[in-house]
Amino acid sequence: MKVDEIMDVALRRGFIFPASEIYGGVSGFWEYGNLGTLMKRKWEDAWRHHFLSLDQNYYEISTSNIMPEAVFKGSGHLEHFNDPLTACTKCNQRFRADDLITDACGKNAEDMTTEEMELAINEENIKCPRCGGDLGPVQLFNMMFCLDIGAAGGTKGYLRPETAQGAFISFKRMFEVLRNRLPIGIGIVGRVYRNEISPRQGFFRLREFNQAELQIFFDPDTFDEHTSFDDVSGTPLRVRPLDRDEEVEMTAGDFRDTYGIGRFYVYHMVKIQEFYLDVLKVPRDKFRFRELSERERAFYNKVHWDIEVDMETLGGYKEVAGIHYRTSHDLSGHQEMSKQKMQVNIDGKKFVPHVLELSFGVDRNFWALLDLAFAKEEERTVFRFPPRMAPITVAVFPLLNKQPLIEKATEIYSQLASIMQTDYDRGGSIGRRYRRQDEIGTPFCVTVDFDTLEDGTVTLRDRDSMEQKRVGENALLGEILSRVAQ
Ligand code: ATP
Repeated sequence: MKVDEIMDVALRRGFIFPASEIYGGVSGFWEYGNLGTLMKRKWEDAWRHHFLSLDQNYYEISTSNIMPEAVFKGSGHLEHFNDPLTACTKCNQRFRADDLITDACGKNAEDMTTEEMELAINEENIKCPRCGGDLGPVQLFNMMFCLDIGAAGGTKGYLRPETAQGAFISFKRMFEVLRNRLPIGIGIVGRVYRNEISPRQGFFRLREFNQAELQIFFDPDTFDEHTSFDDVSGTPLRVRPLDRDEEVEMTAGDFRDTYGIGRFYVYHMVKIQEFYLDVLKVPRDKFRFRELSERERAFYNKVHWDIEVDMETLGGYKEVAGIHYRTSHDLSGHQEMSKQKMQVNIDGKKFVPHVLELSFGVDRNFWALLDLAFAKEEERTVFRFPPRMAPITVAVFPLLNKQPLIEKATEIYSQLASIMQTDYDRGGSIGRRYRRQDEIGTPFCVTVDFDTLEDGTVTLRDRDSMEQKRVGENALLGEILSRVAQ
């Protein structure tokens, strides 16, 4: 199966592997190897480049992973950040009740109440998938990891379940730092932790993962305004609204008029779609925004569309990101809890800003890149990553293990390595070296041969077409950079 083939390369070549592997691992925890780390960093940098440049007032900050209990009282997570749990009465194995129902009868159970889930379990006669025993009542389980802060304990803390709270509790200071203007965007890229009940599907549902989130604070009276909306209003958006049972394309302008969603929100949808289609090169027919029903939405979201990518390894469209209108929920909650004023005063108008959140799961996006790019061909296994995302951009080979060729290849390697991620390989036949690079998705290979020493040209080989072209040494860097930028 494709998922096993990808995992095989991922493990052998250093993309990802199970955490604490030598001790048997714990489900939901994974490590990034050498190539995985390079590619994850490229994804995160592309995200920063794309989203933080949408406005002069969008910046990244870096905040604590551990926060005191008060933060999560203020945010509502202590009360609401729950998943439905049912345990087997015989073997005591715990399961996510909604997942069991979906697996058993295909129904989307995410928007069911706990009572409805119990009913569905009874009606469908769903038993413990492990031992066939009866399942117990469905209860809500809080997904945050709790810990004691300090040697004496007593100060309860939690590992953050989303990066977002770091931005909300820093808002007051950052608003002043950024000179009391709106909108401001506060981005955070970092680790988050959720004690998922039963992480399944390999790399998709993790207990420790990475998010890239941008919280945009704005005046709620301007929700239907964006200075650049006219520039994007003709862009067709691929959406799957609740009132349609398949994807439709409609221009951003029509979408706003049909569904009554503010221009500020729709503008950012267009920019998200651009990121997926133009930067990550996700094929158009594998991308969509899906509207969530009121009961499916997180408790704080007024408007909520998920960003989904169709992945063969996961059996269809899966959520990789979300765009959430969180209103003033978080700032008001923290205002009440901390007794610190979150209200702003802009030209005499006093209000608590509202928040538009762009929330991306880095690891799911990473997996989507692997899923979409993987191909098994007759002669080779290849990841057709967009060149900008490939862990290694170029590999340099001396054709033979001969000193003058090695010297020249090393010289070219050093020049390229100072600009881009470059590999050097002198082991085995040239064909084998190409295959090794194809397998990790390196888009370009440069071979130094005896002609190079004569006329200063090298062979530049393209991963996808496998075409080889002679390029002058001086033109090589420019040629590679222009192909990466395409
Ligand atoms: P799900 O419905 O899959 O549990 P969610 O709707 O709770 O996800 P959000 O709270 O909106 O997710 O988090 C934002 C993003 O973080 C998601 O779009 C997803 O990409 C990622 N994410 C959430 N939970 C996990 C997880 N357990 N493992 C990996 N990534 C996750």
